[in-house]
This record gives sequence, C-alpha cells and structure tokens, in this order.
Amino acid sequence: MKAFGYVSAPDLAGALEAVAAGARPLGGGTNLVDLMRADVERPDTLVDITSLPLTGVEELAGGGLRIGATVRNSHLAADRLVRSRYPVLAQALLAGASGQLRNMATVGGNLLQRTRCPYLRDHAAACNKREPGSGCAAIEGVHRGTAVLGTSEHCIAAHPSDMAVALLALDAVVEVQSLRGTRRIPLGELHRAPGEAPHVETTLATDELITAVELPPAAVARNSWYRKVRDRASFAFALVSVAAALAVRDGEVVDVRLALGGVATTPWRAREAERVLLGAPATEETFRRAAAAELTSAVARPDNAFKIEMVQRTIAATLRRLATEGGAA
Ligand code: SF4
Repeated sequence: MKAFGYVSAPDLAGALEAVAAGARPLGGGTNLVDLMRADVERPDTLVDITSLPLTGVEELAGGGLRIGATVRNSHLAADRLVRSRYPVLAQALLAGASGQLRNMATVGGNLLQRTRCPYLRDHAAACNKREPGSGCAAIEGVHRGTAVLGTSEHCIAAHPSDMAVALLALDAVVEVQSLRGTRRIPLGELHRAPGEAPHVETTLATDELITAVELPPAAVARNSWYRKVRDRASFAFALVSVAAALAVRDGEVVDVRLALGGVATTPWRAREAERVLLGAPATEETFRRAAAAELTSAVARPDNAFKIEMVQRTIAATLRRLATEGGAA
C-alpha cells in the first residue's frame, strides 16, 4: 500500500479545494480503502468528507427527497419517507453488503464503487481497468459474474451497486460541486459503459465532488420492489437484480419503471421493456415479452449465458408480484 496524506475537510469549500488539488474524497472507505490496500487505487491524498453537513434526508416541495452524499446506507434504508415513498430503494440498500458495511458506506461512495471483477485486484492478470491497454483476462478466464449488456471487447465487468439500480429506476439526479460551480447529472448519465476506455467509469470531472442525490416525486414508486438473485442469501453481489415500480389500472399498465443490476456494465435502465409494457395488458405474456425485448442486445460468454434467462425470469416474477400482491418495504 502506497503512503498517502490524510486531511479532514473543515467545510465544503475546503473539501472542494482539496479535491481540485488532486485529493480523493473519503466517505466510508469501504471500497476505496480496500482497493488502496490491494494497490489498485494509489491516491497521494485523501480528504475526509464525513464531517461535512451532507448527512440529511430532506423532503422537497412536491414530495421528492434530497439525500446528502454522506448519508450512510443503513440510515437511508431506515428512513421513514424512503420506506413509504420509495420502498424499492430501501430494499436495494438492505440487499447490499452486510450490516457493518451499510453502517459505514455512504450514498456518494456507493455510486462510485468499482467492480468486483477479481482481475481488477490481481496484479498478475491483464485488466484494462487497472492498467489501460493491458487486455481483459475475464473474457477468456473466470467470467461467471460478468455482464451481458453494455459490454465491449475491452471489459465485461458487471457494475456492483444495488442502490444505484434502484436510484436509476427512480430517475434520480446527482448533484456535484466543484470550485467552478454546481452541476446536476441524471443518474443514467453518471456511469460510463466501458467502450474503448474501461478505466474511465463515470462522467465526473476529477475536481468534482458528489454532494447530494435528488429523487423526484413518483406516485408509481409506492408500488415498487427490488429483487436480487445471488449465490447466498446475504453479503453477496447480484447475479441478476431487478428494480421495478408498476401501476396498473383496469388491467392495463399505466406507469412502469424498470432497471437491472448484475447483468450490465453500468446500472441498466430497461427502456425497451418499459416501452413494451406501457399501455399493454398486465399479464404474464406481456411481462415475458417485455423481458425478452430488453435482452435482445445481450452478448453472452460461455459461463455467464445463464444470466440472460435468469434476468428475464426475474423481471417477469417481479412484475407479476407488483401486479398481484404489490411491493413491500
Ligand atoms: Fe478488468 Fe474489466 Fe476485464 Fe475484469 S472485465 S479483467 S475489470 S477489463
């Protein structure tokens, strides 16, 4: 592990100055510090932002929520307004990591966590994320947990966050600040597909700090659910996951939100499936047709091909549940 400097930000302006000077923001440290220990991340300086006043969950006019960037995942999962208005978000948070990690991990850090592809930490293997241009060991190697959507010949790693999948389904907007001002990024534009440059994972500039996430009001979100399929019941990343919200009137889908995790290189909004669902009868046949439509662009490798069928079944099961029993916090 490389030696590094540590400063505690006295206020937001101080944090922005430090980030502009090259420091990496430190929230819970549950991913960044792990990667520093593995010599994958090598920052010269960390600026601790956990004492900044970014810890609130505030109600916005109109019924939305503003969530501070350093709100802990466990705090957010337990928030009364999140549980009642956006149950899919509370469920996604509780499906992630372990209780101890959720107590430490922050909202901003969760959004920026890096893939758990084992080759990222394996200095003996080629990995375009760790060493651009070196190749991708996963394509011919161990790739059962990798993505089938949004991949490139340079990287097939799955995005690891559960929370981000729920936030994407909810049309969240990320607020970022720098010494140059404030910018608002729709969550769907924060993460970059690997393309030719897998090591560039977000659209954040190096001097920008995530300060908040905003959720717009969404009546449909009250009937929402996060379903995660994994190898063991807790403390495991998703093989596939589905964040869904559904409104049905007179047997017809009148509103729907659908996002996928575990199957794509970024949190994946299932726009094609939403298009099939909207205005169609809320039936098993529609749910399966929508799921199949979303996966037409999937690219499978020998050991991750099972995800294509698994995620289609999970989409259909999640929608079926929301159409019949409804979601639950
Ligand atoms: Fe690295 Fe991505 Fe290939 Fe994994 S899939 S080895 S993270 S380039």
